[in-house]
Amino acid sequence: MTSERRLLVGLADIKAVTFACKKCATRVTVGPDKVNADRFQVCPECGHVWIPKPQQGKSATRGEAPMYDLLALLSDAIALQARETIGCRVLFEIEEPRS
Ligand SMILES: [Zn+2]
Repeated sequence: MTSERRLLVGLADIKAVTFACKKCATRVTVGPDKVNADRFQVCPECGHVWIPKPQQGKSATRGEAPMYDLLALLSDAIALQARETIGCRVLFEIEEPRS
């Protein structure tokens, strides 16, 4: 019998967010309250486009907007999680790290 363990991670568990460039592998880590989608539009080292800012009215499709929106709203979502008006915790399931 094989077993697989998974971990549940909530928004309040997020201690930092790391951006890793697909081109040059540069990493930038910031606290969740310091995630500013505008700040991470391009790699600070090589200039590779990371998360393009959505251009309003340019396209009927959302393109990369969900990624931009996720980062723009992350700290607000973390703060809202503690409110009584939010009746559930949002949990993300990840595989247990192998070490
Ligand atoms: Zn880079």
